[in-house]
Amino acid sequence: MAPDLREFVRDVPDFPKPGILFRDLTPLMRDPDGWQEVIRQLSAVCERLQPDLIVGIESRGFIVGTALATAVRLGFVPVRKPGKLPGEVTGVDYALEYGSDRLEIHSDALADGSKVLIIDDLLATGGTAAACAELVAAAGGELCGFGFVAELAALEGRRKLPEDQPVESLIIYS
Ligand code: 5GP
Repeated sequence: MAPDLREFVRDVPDFPKPGILFRDLTPLMRDPDGWQEVIRQLSAVCERLQPDLIVGIESRGFIVGTALATAVRLGFVPVRKPGKLPGEVTGVDYALEYGSDRLEIHSDALADGSKVLIIDDLLATGGTAAACAELVAAAGGELCGFGFVAELAALEGRRKLPEDQPVESLIIYS
């Protein structure tokens, strides 16, 4: 029987700030059967959506995205915090609850119009994934959907994402 992914997620109260319940996925990554199941389910998403490339968001999206890209034999493109990529970059600024942040991608990474699946470990308010979708478009890529290991549905992150794009989350916390 396939392992129940939820059983491997550790709830950490008051991290990184008081009042926040952090869903820690590292025990899931540590378990070979649990992690294999994550990659199996996301591979099925790739089978349906047929991306040309996997785009992963720094930093936990790199762990999920590179494992998936290797499993489905696709290339991987990192989306990073500012100042980390060595080549010419395209960037997008986005608002946080307090202040703002920025994501960057190599300008030539999607210039051929590749169809991409955006991968991150978790969808919360949706601000990060929405900014990444904007970045993919700005860099010339075509989006075919989003994949997350977990989603905090109460924060309604999906509402920030482009309406016409499929959003696949393996574990949904209501
Ligand atoms: P959002 O922009 O959707 O509010 O936040 C999503 C980003 O924050 C993701 O990159 C994710 O890694 C991180 N994040 C926010 N809350 C959690 C959480 O409870 N657990 C994990 N693993 N990551 C979180």
